[in-house]
Amino acid sequence: MATFSILFLILLEACASPENPKALKVAFFLNENAALDELAITSATNYINNYAATQYALNFVLAPRIYRIKKSEIYNVGNLACDALREGIAAIFGPENGEANEIIQSMALSLEIPQFQTFWNPNFATYAGLGTANKKEIFNFNLYPSPSVLSKAFATLVRENDWRSYTIIYENDDGLVRLQEVLKALSPNNPLVTYRKLGPEPDHRPVFKEIVASGALHIILDCEADHTIDILSQAKEVKLFEEYHTYLLTSLDAYTIDFRQLGEIKTNVSIVRMLDQKVVDTVIGNWELVDSERKLKIPNKLIKVKTAFLFDALNLFITAYSNLDQEQEMDVRPQSCDTNEISSHGYRLSAFIPLLNMTKGMLGEPISGSLNFNSLGQRVSLKLEVLELRKDEFRVTGIWDSGTPHSIYSTITSADREKELEQQLKGRTFRVVSRIYPPYLSRKPGIDSSVMSGNNAFEGYAMDLMKGICELYECNYVFELVPDNNYGKYDPKTKEWNGLIRHLLDRKADLAICDLTTTYERRKAVDFSNPFMTLGISILYTKIVKEPPDLLAFTNPLSLHVWLYMVTAYMVISMIIFLVARLNPNEWENPHPCNPNPEELENIWNIKNCFWLTLGSIMQQGCDILPKGISTRMVAGMWWFFTLIMISCYTANLAAFLTQSRMGPTIQSAEDLAAQTKIKYGCLKDGATASFFRDTNVTTYHKMWVAMETADPSVFETSNDDGVKRVISKKGKYAFLMESSSIEYEVEKHCELVQVGNRLDTKGYGIAMPTNAPYRTSINQAILKMQEMGRLQRLKEKWWKEKNKANTCKKDEDSKTDSANELSLAHVGGVFVVLVVGMSIAMVIAVCEFLWHVRKIAVTQHVALKEVFLKELRFAMDIWCRQKPANPAANLNLSRETLRQGD
Ligand code: ASP
Repeated sequence: MATFSILFLILLEACASPENPKALKVAFFLNENAALDELAITSATNYINNYAATQYALNFVLAPRIYRIKKSEIYNVGNLACDALREGIAAIFGPENGEANEIIQSMALSLEIPQFQTFWNPNFATYAGLGTANKKEIFNFNLYPSPSVLSKAFATLVRENDWRSYTIIYENDDGLVRLQEVLKALSPNNPLVTYRKLGPEPDHRPVFKEIVASGALHIILDCEADHTIDILSQAKEVKLFEEYHTYLLTSLDAYTIDFRQLGEIKTNVSIVRMLDQKVVDTVIGNWELVDSERKLKIPNKLIKVKTAFLFDALNLFITAYSNLDQEQEMDVRPQSCDTNEISSHGYRLSAFIPLLNMTKGMLGEPISGSLNFNSLGQRVSLKLEVLELRKDEFRVTGIWDSGTPHSIYSTITSADREKELEQQLKGRTFRVVSRIYPPYLSRKPGIDSSVMSGNNAFEGYAMDLMKGICELYECNYVFELVPDNNYGKYDPKTKEWNGLIRHLLDRKADLAICDLTTTYERRKAVDFSNPFMTLGISILYTKIVKEPPDLLAFTNPLSLHVWLYMVTAYMVISMIIFLVARLNPNEWENPHPCNPNPEELENIWNIKNCFWLTLGSIMQQGCDILPKGISTRMVAGMWWFFTLIMISCYTANLAAFLTQSRMGPTIQSAEDLAAQTKIKYGCLKDGATASFFRDTNVTTYHKMWVAMETADPSVFETSNDDGVKRVISKKGKYAFLMESSSIEYEVEKHCELVQVGNRLDTKGYGIAMPTNAPYRTSINQAILKMQEMGRLQRLKEKWWKEKNKANTCKKDEDSKTDSANELSLAHVGGVFVVLVVGMSIAMVIAVCEFLWHVRKIAVTQHVALKEVFLKELRFAMDIWCRQKPANPAANLNLSRETLRQGD
């Protein structure tokens, strides 16, 4: 190859006789094994000298001088350059090596020879634009896009993709400089950006394992294109190249990588491409023509950017040179490194190049896009295609232009993207994790509780929901249970999640469906779909139990204490009347009013009468005897006043007490709960409800959280089921804070339960999935569709009402009881009882009085007790007889004599 090109060049030069056009010499400093670069140069030279020369009437032929620099000869590059200069060269291309370039760059600057660089050179700006002591012109041009422009493109990509956190994996420190804009754009102190440098060792797995453990999903990989496959296959081995990962490769040569070597790829890989594929295809076709004899293999018809830059640089140079030459002949003279003599053509040429803004040159369109340079000689305008890897092929998804650096023009419509996503779901089997809690998921009857997976073992709302989604996308699913039966709680000490969230983070499932609440904390760890059910925290409590009316309900208007005080007051006042009446002379009366001078005075206020007076007034009946003295009347008056107030209060309260049934302590809202201590309340231990109370700023709820935390025994439950059981068993002494949708179900199932008060918050249940899951949009759309079709509502009806077999509560049970306020016998039964008891006691006393009277007659009249008893009894029973002899004994003696005469 090399021999061929040198022969070709000698031939060209030989042709450059005085009559023939002069030879325009240019120097190329190439690396070893740069066969493609050489081919590019040969092809361009061939084109220029054979076609363009006549077309543009050129008076020169291009005579390239190619120098291959071995690694060991880097420091000899200066001597080689001096050799070339001695021959008289118009421009220098290369070298690619940073150290060698330092030498050539400074020589070009001091001798004013235009130099074209084609690699990423972070030190370029240090030399660029320095010029000689007097003139600040530029002589170095770098076709590799300026780092600030290129990194702007990556920054926009990261922003448009909405990456919340990402990891930068880089091979060498230049990578970080290359990505400076990305880092600047996303807050330099952003803690969510992690940097990992690949060590010099070929084994990068330890670093990748650490990245996997950190849960990173978005990765910017800055490495040489040739190393990419090796790096990614190692990442794949340690599961850092999975479905949920997104990679952005920064290498401009990434499109030349054959990703098929990695096997099946589910990862989302994005790259950027500078080269226009159509132009590349034409150019490569030309190269192959030139190379037809040797059949140089151009891999996959792809060329690397450095070769494209070299070709474009030559195109730029020759176009600029011929333009200037046609205006006024260019004079390229041999130069000596020893004298430091500056070139005669360099200044003119270098000043012209930035003005050219070349979109089409002598060799056609530049392969790497239009060539525009700033005053430092850096390439500024840039157009990049954003490509996405799709089944080991790349396809263009967007275009970034340095003219509008903050946005990416998308070449794929969202409808197309949706269709593609749907296509991807077809036939896919989702691993769905859930937990047992009816009606969301329950084991089918007869299924053993040890069964942890399999669609035939379970039924419920969650399964039907998944079935609905898969009907839309023709996908499959398999349900399994989460081993620890938890929803998902983050432990700040261990920095670990448990439950369903842990399962998703471990990539053991694709989806988690159950009554899993979307919370901010969980959202940071996993993604959630749109809510399929909205709800809020509410209170589950037992229905108010109306106690049957008390037998002694009529005593309720006054408390026991008041009753006792009243009885005491009754007795004390009666005694006071007795004493005062004895002291008061007005109460001593003449027993025989016809006798103006009685020998004795009589006081009617014996104990019996006193008690009768006070009793009569308390019963609002009055009394046939009344006090006459001022003091006794004063006592009686005060007692009447007292009884007036007491009886009024009693009467007023009695109506209310008799009509309103007695209720246990009741609550209407969370505020009521917070304000009391009799009814205990709690919630699920490790769920979203507990998190709500723990993190709330609302004083009432915070107070409730403190009360719950300090309660002994604990008011927290490990499952909603346990909470429901506790509410039922505690009969009004315990309330359970639970999510309203579950409360609805429990209330349907247990008639004695009721939801109390409004919802304390508003939230939703969503389908959880690993962050960045590609099927998230499709799941969202399926939920939306099912909602619009009314399927979600029907599913709820099915599982909350129809399938809820225990639902036997009769809705109107309560309403009929409250329909009327009339008093039943139960309300006033006690009054009857008092009446009966009073009557019974009166009868007993009457009997006692009667017997006492009989005994008295028998003793005083010396008559047989039996006889007196019978006589008195007969008399008492003779209800027609209205009169009774004053002296029963006389009656008895009479009858005895009558009996004797009869004998
Ligand atoms: N659904 C809740 C959760 O996802 C459970 C609860 O706290 O009531 O954690």
